[in-house]
Amino acid sequence: MRVIHEPSELPKEGCNFVPTMGALHEGHSALIQEANNSHLPVVVSIFVNPTQFAPNEDFEAYPRMLDQDIEIAKAAGAEVVFAPTAEVVYEKEMNDIPLPKVATEPKLEDASRPTHFHGVCNVVARLFDFANPVNAFFGEKDYQQLKVIEAMVRQESRWGDLEIVAVPTARGIDGIALSSRNAYLSSEERMQARAIVHALSIGCEHGMMALLVEAGLDVDYAVIRDADSLLAPIEGCPRRAIIAAKVGSTRLIDNGELP
Ligand code: AMP
Repeated sequence: MRVIHEPSELPKEGCNFVPTMGALHEGHSALIQEANNSHLPVVVSIFVNPTQFAPNEDFEAYPRMLDQDIEIAKAAGAEVVFAPTAEVVYEKEMNDIPLPKVATEPKLEDASRPTHFHGVCNVVARLFDFANPVNAFFGEKDYQQLKVIEAMVRQESRWGDLEIVAVPTARGIDGIALSSRNAYLSSEERMQARAIVHALSIGCEHGMMALLVEAGLDVDYAVIRDADSLLAPIEGCPRRAIIAAKVGSTRLIDNGELP
């Protein structure tokens, strides 16, 4: 496996691409393994993107552990780890990506983190421009992000037939979605966080909210939405339960399919 820092060193023949912010765990490994299903080389990018963090968020504190990440990426079957600096990523001028509706209308992460998807779309666009992937793999864990990236790729033509592949959320044995931010949780908070997993299967917004509040979580939103637009659910269409809540000072997000 190669570890590279410059876009010019990326494979020229196209690749399966897994963008990450590092602090890799088994959720990321699941993406890399899923990407490792064809003859195409798997490229994992590791870049903690400053522009998707608001000034009050955890950009400085975000866990960084490149050596360990390299081992995890290698074990999961990556051929290349691409770890650019911010100077390299933001070197070239690029027109802003117009945000798709799913990045501005649902009033979920877009409301709580108003600059977040602008940062995400613009860094992912830059990474796609560098890597020119055939397929790119995103976790359902960040469900609104997945829908935003799918919409961005439909809207922009410059990545050709790029396919966005959705990978189911990897969970711990207690059901809690794996996340780099789980490292911030105390063992007591981790117990509390289980309420999120229970709430996702309730199927009624009142019930979700009651359970989360009862468990002592500071709920940002706990909603049931149309699984595609993330707007109000439509009779007969797939629905998704989506939650953001703080456990102590750690903000967690999770979501699940509803029958
Ligand atoms: P991050 O490093 O947190 O930006 O995540 C990089 C990619 O890994 C994103 O596509 C995430 O949705 C995905 N991811 C993070 N956690 C999980 C998980 N528990 N299961 C599946 N995918 C995940």
